[in-house]
Amino acid sequence: MSSTASLSAKTALVTGSTSGIGLAIARGFAREGANVVINGFGKPEEIEAARAGIESAFGVRAHYSDADMTKPDQIAAMVRDAEERFGSVDVLVNNAGIQHVSAIEEFPGEKWEQIIAINLSSAFYAMQAAIPGMKRREWGRIINTASAHSLVASPYKSAYVAAKHGIAGLTKTAALELAAHKVTVNCISPGYVWTPLVESQIPDTMKARGLTKEQVIDDVLLKAQPTKEFVTVDQVAALAVFLCSDGASQITGANLTMDGGWTAQ
Ligand code: NAD
Repeated sequence: MSSTASLSAKTALVTGSTSGIGLAIARGFAREGANVVINGFGKPEEIEAARAGIESAFGVRAHYSDADMTKPDQIAAMVRDAEERFGSVDVLVNNAGIQHVSAIEEFPGEKWEQIIAINLSSAFYAMQAAIPGMKRREWGRIINTASAHSLVASPYKSAYVAAKHGIAGLTKTAALELAAHKVTVNCISPGYVWTPLVESQIPDTMKARGLTKEQVIDDVLLKAQPTKEFVTVDQVAALAVFLCSDGASQITGANLTMDGGWTAQ
């Protein structure tokens, strides 16, 4: 493999890939020749269009798993099924994530539990299921979609910030455990990427801060980002593809920011 990844004969499983960043990453891997497992929720016809679109655009096989990332048994079964179906899970991207915006004293307990389960614990359970095969084959790539919020906080996002700081720590621990097995573990930490996750938090942020939609975009979201531009899903996917190349084989345990300078401040 060169510094451009060739992933033919490899399988990539991307959690939370029915939309946004995850779908762009899955398509990025398929473009490099990988068979892919996509996962997440959404309208069945849209999910099928995304799955079939990957197969027809890139000539690979794409399978959809409806595993719920709050359910450890479903996560383990998804990995097992992918290994049986395609022979291996060589690349695991823990990307599923949700957000809830509210002050701590009003933050519903079940939202806290759900965010910790989807944004943090699911990565632990997916790694637990995928690592034995990667170690046996002496090759693997684990990429966790963290966030600028793995390095800095914003008010009203307590569960999200806690989960993302957690995944940065989990990434480092797994990287050390797997360093001698040719399995790298890294996280990508985007700033604001224009996806349904960002769009859907605008109304709550308007409410929590008493702002208009335009004020939320300019004064809250892009205020943090010195470039004053949203990151694109394809830029995140390009970094994920690079992390699977030989050129990236000594990058492990890293938290790679892609945030227009946000966390440099
Ligand atoms: P998105 O809403 O477009 O995608 C989230 C994906 O997770 C969807 O496929 C959704 O169906 C899936 N999902 C949600 N709950 C699930 C569950 N219980 N089980 C399985 N799948 C589930 O959002 P996105 O912006 O593409 O977010 C993807 C990741 O990127 C998240 O981890 C998010 O925290 C992170 N991130 C996003 C931004 C941003 O600005 N958009 C910035 C930094 C990090």
